[in-house]
Amino acid sequence: MYKILMPYTYVKSERVREHLDGYELVLITAGILKPNWNIDRKMVDFYKKLEVSCWRFHACHSTPPQKFKHLTMNLAEKPNKQIEKALKNQISIASAISGEEKPNLLVIHSGSVKNIEERENGIENVVENLKKALDTAEEEEITLALETKERRVKGDLYFIGSQYQDLIEIKKEVGSDLVKFTCDIGHLKTMGGTPYIKEAIRRLGKNIIHAHIHWNDSRLDLHQPLTAIPEKEKQEFKTIIKLLIEKTDIPNEKYRTFTLEIAHKTIAKPPKHGATAKEQIESVKILKNLIEKQ
Ligand SMILES: [Zn+2]
Repeated sequence: MYKILMPYTYVKSERVREHLDGYELVLITAGILKPNWNIDRKMVDFYKKLEVSCWRFHACHSTPPQKFKHLTMNLAEKPNKQIEKALKNQISIASAISGEEKPNLLVIHSGSVKNIEERENGIENVVENLKKALDTAEEEEITLALETKERRVKGDLYFIGSQYQDLIEIKKEVGSDLVKFTCDIGHLKTMGGTPYIKEAIRRLGKNIIHAHIHWNDSRLDLHQPLTAIPEKEKQEFKTIIKLLIEKTDIPNEKYRTFTLEIAHKTIAKPPKHGATAKEQIESVKILKNLIEKQ
């Protein structure tokens, strides 16, 4: 059986929740991390006691909304004590909330550099930052699942992992089984449409252990519901889900998870890019259907 999840804060109604198998907990908005990366233990207990499990966890990253600027973690920056504490504490949170659902995973963005010329330097920093957290990851039974990132549209900033080759390079340099990948198909689509998604799935292959599902126009990272997939792209979407099941390690995971990253319109930015509860439910049904057919 596969589990269809949604980020905890994206679910705004009981009707949507009833269709889900659980949540991915996005640590940036979970209210669990205090300034200076200290952990709010009361909030850890709160999430532990949820009726529906948090099956997957999503770490903080380098480009948070203004409101969460204090939780900026950029793994492409030169290693320092703050980054080390940030990453280790997030691994500990994932472990504490997972309870019996271990081993588990923490989805990680590899960070950003000021332009593409800094790419190699950024990758070296990601490798060093990850290496410092490996002991904690091993102890806590948490795999670090580096996510494929989207094309940056504004300015020169370059997201490490927007070209999937970055992730292969990082994994090779870290040289640990605790580093794996999260395949975000929407992000990949902004880097070269559906051909690029398929190429990346084939190349990242068995190191993919989790997936993020949403759609867009191949230009902007819109996080659209699956009801927005145009007629002419429906077949491509089916092929992509098939590839995720055939070519990756998701089917061999103890918990086989797909997270629908489709924000409800009350929290999407801008709101016009969000989905209604009905569109969220339809998206769950579309995905479930396709997975079951494989
Ligand atoms: Zn994602």
